[in-house]
Formats: sequence, structure tokens, C-alpha cells
Amino acid sequence: MEIKKKDIRALTKEQLREFFVNEGDKAFRGNQVYEWLWSKGAHTFEDMTNISKETRQMLEDNFVINHIEVDTMQRSSDGTVKNAVKLHDGLIVESVLIPTETRTTACVSSQVGCSLDCKFCATSRLKRMRNLNPDEIYDQVVAIDRESKLYFNRPLSNIVFMGMGEPLMNYNNVIKAIDKITSPEGLGMSPKRIVVSTSGVPKMIKKMADDAVKFNLAVSLHSAIDEVRTSIMPFNETFPLKDLKEALEYWYKKTERKITYEYVVWDGINDSMKDIEALVKFCKYVPCKVNIIEYNPIDDGAFQQASNTTIDNYIAELERNRIVVNVRRSRGKDIDAACGQLANKT
Ligand code: SAH
Repeated sequence: MEIKKKDIRALTKEQLREFFVNEGDKAFRGNQVYEWLWSKGAHTFEDMTNISKETRQMLEDNFVINHIEVDTMQRSSDGTVKNAVKLHDGLIVESVLIPTETRTTACVSSQVGCSLDCKFCATSRLKRMRNLNPDEIYDQVVAIDRESKLYFNRPLSNIVFMGMGEPLMNYNNVIKAIDKITSPEGLGMSPKRIVVSTSGVPKMIKKMADDAVKFNLAVSLHSAIDEVRTSIMPFNETFPLKDLKEALEYWYKKTERKITYEYVVWDGINDSMKDIEALVKFCKYVPCKVNIIEYNPIDDGAFQQASNTTIDNYIAELERNRIVVNVRRSRGKDIDAACGQLANKT
């Protein structure tokens, strides 16, 4: 019977060191292998040239090195690049590279499919198949960093967890991936350039605050009225706005970092003065800014982006209340790479 080999990249550096000590070798060997796996991105044990042949064979007998593979890559007319990424078990997730004048941002996935069922989001139709492992999240970033250097002559500058999945429902693996991304042995990126976007799981927002994470938090709000929010994000029934508010207050008290609210304005759904007033009120609970995002239609037409006049009303009212508001234009629409369009269509 063949023994199922373990993915060596699931081990921490400490676990690798221990493994070598148990094998009668030096703990230091663990550091060397760890460096091959993470800083040098080795795909095979053969690549590890400063490790003896016998040791490489022993690793080969015990472990596999799982790596993602960019299955297809599409480039949008606006420069956006979308990768369909194949995982070791054949499942596919998507990640996107978004270039602007000053930065290149990777939008990465945290789950295959999604456990939530936001009515306006294409990913919700896939249901959640499984969580991504830390190395699968990390590898998406590495792949995008490589493409950024190749196409734009500069390394990746920012990362947003706004691809497929709800990052706070795969919290441990997302944290482990971010640890690798920010560690000098990984990509050495600053956590200040990372945004984790959530639909708002109050308990996990508090946990992040307790864990003193150093990255930024964005919340997909879309409505500050419970009935409206529940109708488009059914998950709000379980985690209503008062719990979200309480968790965000806790977050701010502990981290003193502003929150970004993501907000789409739809015709007939959240376009009344009452909706605007509710948002203004919600924004006063904790220091924040609002990103109004353009709606990216997902085929059935039930949701329509509100008129510019409505959006201008939102902006005016927020600004009148001294709340910072940005309007985010959509990117990569022609290749289904924009927010909420990731659904493995390629
Ligand atoms: N689950 C996380 C991250 C994934 S979605 C979250 O909910 O935040 C990233 C952002 O895109 C969220 O703000 C989400 O509400 C928004 N989004 C989803 N579908 C969209 C669509 N069709 N058009 C525009 N934005 C959308």
C-alpha cells in the first residue's frame, strides 16, 4: 500500500527543524530546506543542491512539494491580468493583477468557491468546496509578483484578499500565508500594503484585533440597514449590524487602524435617502473611509448599478459629514476579472 506523502510546505520552520533532529540530522538542515521551499521557491527536492543526495532521497520518500500551476492567463485591454490557478487536486481558483500608474495590486483567493451567498456575487454560485492552504495562497502572490515584473517591470506593491472566498472563514491559513508573505524568508512585503476584505464575521474581527495583526481591514457593507443587508447578504441574519458595529469598535480600540467600507449602490435596493443616512450614521461609529465600487453585472440582471445622480448624492452626503469617500472604477471587466465576477468561467 502506498503511504500518502505529506505536503512539506504545510510544516513550519520549527517543525522542519524537529523533523531533521528526529532523523538524526542537524536542526540547521531544517533551515536550509525551509529556505529552499520559501525564499528560493524550489519545485523539487532535486533542486536543493546544497543538501546531500541521501537526504534529498529521504525527503522524496516522505514528502511531496505541492505547487500551484497557472492554468490559463488572460490579459484585459486595461492591463489587468487574470490567472486561473490549478491546485494540486485539480480544483481551480482565480487571482488578478491590477496595475495602476503607481502600484500593482494582487487580488487573491482564500477559498475554492465561497461559503456565503451574497446575491450579487458570481463566486457565491460556486459554493464552498474547500479552504486554500497557506502555500496555495502564498503561491498566487508569487505568481502575480512574477507577472508584475514581467509585464510592468516592477514588483507587486499591494495585496487585497478580495478574490474568491471569505478570508475570515479560513482565518488560520490566511494568517499563515500573510506571515510568509511578510517574512524576510518569503516576500518581505509590508503588512501595511495588505488588505483583508470580509463580509463581516464579528467574532473573527475581534480575534484579529486580539492577535494584533498589522494588515488593514475592509468590510463589504453595502447597506447599513439590517433588512436591506439581509436581503442581499443573507449571512447578515446571523451576524447583524449591531454585532458588526461592536466588533469594529473593538478592532479600532485595539489597533487604532481605520476601516474601509466597500459599498455598491444599486437601483431600487439601497438608493434612497434613508439608505444614505443609515450609512452616514454607521460611518460615525469608528474612523473609516468609504469605497464606492462600481457594480459588475453577473448575468441575471436582478441588480443594476444606481444612476450617477444617486452616487453623487451618496458622495455629497458623506463629504458633508466629513467622511472620506472614493469611487473605485472597475478593472478587468472584459475578462470577468472584476470584483464579484470570479466564477471559473474560463
Ligand atoms: N468575501 C470577501 C472578499 C471577496 S469579494 C468580502 O465579502 O469582502 C470582494 C468585494 O467585491 C466585496 O466587497 C464584495 O462585496 C464585492 N463584490 C462582490 N460581487 C460584486 C459585483 N458583482 N460587483 C461589484 N462588487 C462586488
